Amino acid sequence: MQLFTIFGNPVSHSKSPLMHNLAFWDLGYRGCYTRYQLQNGEELRNKFFELGIQGANITVPHKEHAFNACDQLDEFAQKVGAVNTIVKKGEKLYGYNTDAPGFLRAIGEFRDIKSVLFLGAGGTAQSTSIILREAGYEVDILNRSKKRLERFEKEGFTTYTFDTFTIDNHYDLVVNMTSAGLEDESYPCPVLFLEKIIPKAKACVDVIYGKETPFLKLAKSYHKPTKDGSDMLLYQGIIAFEYFTEGKFGFEEIKEPMQKAFLVTI
Ligand code: NDP
Repeated sequence: MQLFTIFGNPVSHSKSPLMHNLAFWDLGYRGCYTRYQLQNGEELRNKFFELGIQGANITVPHKEHAFNACDQLDEFAQKVGAVNTIVKKGEKLYGYNTDAPGFLRAIGEFRDIKSVLFLGAGGTAQSTSIILREAGYEVDILNRSKKRLERFEKEGFTTYTFDTFTIDNHYDLVVNMTSAGLEDESYPCPVLFLEKIIPKAKACVDVIYGKETPFLKLAKSYHKPTKDGSDMLLYQGIIAFEYFTEGKFGFEEIKEPMQKAFLVTI
């Protein structure tokens, strides 16, 4: 029996144990997935070996610690500096980022999208902006504070703060990449901006899941196709499962049992 876990703080809300265990059971794989609340991210590597696990997912706030805990990183994780999936091979830890490919796949279901506006410039925006650009999308970033925009500017993205944003801009897809609306009823940027850019957009996406945020409600009021963060979560989980089980199962094969986790409220 192989053991897996999710490290995070907090971690009690995570759907990952249910998602992965449903897939293990259904596919007849001898795996068991738990959750581990880790206070100090510096301890991640030692904890990994101490628990005797085969693989792990890593959530907020330890994705940078996970990056540092690995012996080997795949090319994309290396580029974005954040790891959310670790697999033990021999005595070495291999790190991957499956959030960004999960997001890419989730938005791939919308047609004719070229230009994208990210509201937010945190860790998730960083990895997803890079993968989107590599896939041919044009991504601009709008963030509340200037500080976090510096690394995007270095990467060559067009960035805006609330003071410099032009509401005449046009984007095919608008994405809430912030935590605004997760535990409050706030918008990720001044609502006036949203009232100008959403009507011109073809679709809107929120990375938050399990709750309809004010951003998503507003997008729906304009009858736009929308998506919350559930597909991103599901797809990052499927890709992580492929790493955990070393490619033994296909994407659709894993998806079928794993998506049942979204029928349950936890
Ligand atoms: P970070 O903490 O790295 O970044 C947070 C970002 O949100 C910053 O740009 C911050 O702006 C902005 N922000 C926070 N609150 C507000 C607010 N009230 N108004 C405007 N801007 C705000 O977070 P992450 O990038 O790690 O995560 C972002 C979101 O993505 C979270 O909600 C997380 O749950 C979700 N997520 C979803 C996943 C999924 O599978 N669906 C996977 C990973 C993350 P500033 O710089 O000004 O502080």
